[in-house]
Amino acid sequence: MAYILITAVALFFLNIYTSTSLRSMIFSAQKQTMEERAQVLTTALLQLDELSSSKTEGVVNSLNDLSTTRTVVTDDGGTALYDSLVTGNAEGKLLLFPEIVTALSGEDVFFSCYTDGAIESRAAIPLVKNGKLLGAVYLMQYDTDQGALVDTLQTNVLRLSVALELGVILISLVFSTAFSRRLRRILHSVRKMGDGDYSYKLKLRGSDELTQLGREFNSLSERLEASEQRRRQFVSDASHELKTPLATIKLLSDSILQNEMDAATQREFIGDIGREADRLGRLTQKLLTLTKLDSDVSDEREIINAAQTVQKVARMLRPLAKLRRIRLECTPEEGCSIMTVEDDLYQIVFNLVENAIKYNREGGWVGVKLFRQDEDVVLTVEDSGVGIPPEAMTHIFERFYRVDKARSRAAGGAGLGLSIVHDMVGRNYGTIGVAARVGGGTVFTVRFPLFETEEETT
Ligand code: ADP
Repeated sequence: MAYILITAVALFFLNIYTSTSLRSMIFSAQKQTMEERAQVLTTALLQLDELSSSKTEGVVNSLNDLSTTRTVVTDDGGTALYDSLVTGNAEGKLLLFPEIVTALSGEDVFFSCYTDGAIESRAAIPLVKNGKLLGAVYLMQYDTDQGALVDTLQTNVLRLSVALELGVILISLVFSTAFSRRLRRILHSVRKMGDGDYSYKLKLRGSDELTQLGREFNSLSERLEASEQRRRQFVSDASHELKTPLATIKLLSDSILQNEMDAATQREFIGDIGREADRLGRLTQKLLTLTKLDSDVSDEREIINAAQTVQKVARMLRPLAKLRRIRLECTPEEGCSIMTVEDDLYQIVFNLVENAIKYNREGGWVGVKLFRQDEDVVLTVEDSGVGIPPEAMTHIFERFYRVDKARSRAAGGAGLGLSIVHDMVGRNYGTIGVAARVGGGTVFTVRFPLFETEEETT
């Protein structure tokens, strides 16, 4: 609406400006004509030896194309020597029109105005011969033709601007209605999304900013829908995982309370309850880690000598490997500095090596290597274990994904370890890949950008 108002005001001023310009063009043409005529008459009058009434009349009559409404010649005192008017002739009378007075003071005058459909122009110039003022020439033109021309032009300009204004208002209305309709649709979808309906999609045609906004909105709602779907899935999976050990604990404790059992069986049941409680503890710890990773709270990064962390993990897991009769070979090279959160790196290596031991065979082997390759620090964790089927490789980093559910559960896993590893590697600017190992087993490869310290560079 404001736009229409601005256009209307602009057109109104344009109308005034055009009319004024047209008038001043006509006035200046009129001025030139009047000045030329007055000049011609003055030149002719100055040829006379004396400025008398009869001689002046003779000169005026000889200039037949003077074509003015009134021509007056006065002496130096302002008395009319000649007046072309028939009715109201002022010959012999004192004529002190302002223009004549100004001309007698030695100045040229021109005046023009538009009144009652006519242009009235007046010009007066002094008659000066050899530096002596002899009188003044006064011309007056009352032009109804020019006035009619100005009239027609003004009316046409007015009509044109009204037509233009109506056109602009019409176009603006059409555009603004279409614009508001599309805006209302976007608003409607925003409200729908606010109510939690992410499936609603906007259908906008065209390629303007509004359509782009609509597309952005659609892609935003798609992402929100996917994230909401992931969140629901996560909550349902997490509840399911928590339910199983809780149900076992409940069953075991009910059995202890209801049945008369010997002390040895009771101890065995209580031991089982303790193991389930440990499983619950590990699960909640992993869930907390994932929530922390999702909320993107970034810990302080520092330059880490990755070899030391890898050795620390190997020391921690050697007893487990020994228990399972698995040979753990750890060969980290020095000079592998990376910029990371130390706890993250520890967790990454720990989860990968623990899995390599957990999903291995009796008498199997686990190899952990750390080395530099071009601009990267590479960590490989290989095992001679059960391996991962090719169809499972793409899902391995998903939350709660387990290849062999029974086996994994028996090993105490909930399918969260690798997804934690994946998210931690990502937030430390690294990449992770998994492949089947030639000769059986699996190999995980993690790459981090090498951070060269000054000592290493020199
Ligand atoms: P979990 O806590 O169950 O071990 P992970 O996310 O660590 O969960 O692993 C997901 C699944 O990937 C495991 O259940 C297991 O089936 C499979 N897996 C992980 N590491 C290995 C490995 N080194 N060898 C064979 N299978 C593995």
